[in-house]
Amino acid sequence: MKQASWLRYSPSADSVYCGYCYLFGVQAFRTSDWSNISKFVDRHVGENASHHTAVARGQAFIDVHRGAPDIRQQLQNQRVQAIEENRAILKSITEVVVTMARQNISLRGHVPEESNFNSLMALVAQHNSTLRHHLENARGNAKYTSPEIQNELLDLSAQQIVNNIVSDCKKAGCYAFIADESTDVSVKEQISVLCTFCAKGKQWETHHT
Ligand SMILES: [Zn+2]
Repeated sequence: MKQASWLRYSPSADSVYCGYCYLFGVQAFRTSDWSNISKFVDRHVGENASHHTAVARGQAFIDVHRGAPDIRQQLQNQRVQAIEENRAILKSITEVVVTMARQNISLRGHVPEESNFNSLMALVAQHNSTLRHHLENARGNAKYTSPEIQNELLDLSAQQIVNNIVSDCKKAGCYAFIADESTDVSVKEQISVLCTFCAKGKQWETHHT
């Protein structure tokens, strides 16, 4: 007979019970057939789904009373952890995109697998287990690495840079704009805008777009 920590004896009924099944189960296990108790116990535990369900319920009850977080708290904790992980993943992806933009490295390749972006992402993922797990396991529509997402991240970063320049420009009070246009080799008109101002606490700044 295996060790059965769930067995309880009732002197008044002169029987043994399964403590978990009695309190948390659908059927109380009880016997006073002492000669066959070993078989009863083995049969009760082996392949008895209702006993294992009762044990799980009982353990959860004990855990909560010992101060373990309840199911709502556990779900909330998992949600908070998932949000933090997703933020860290998106931050890594954005850092790669912005670094490539700053260094003037093209993101795309002849095929996506050979693109500079994917090569750098693979390199960063070697030292970042969260990112590696994400790249290997995330669904195709939730990877945040597609060309559309790369463009979106670039647009958002560009918007942020413009906002910062405009904010500094407004604070400076005095500023100057120079606009110039010319036609490029594909006969497309390009206009450049130069903004010059003296920002407080900063060196003389010239921004060119
Ligand atoms: Zn039981």
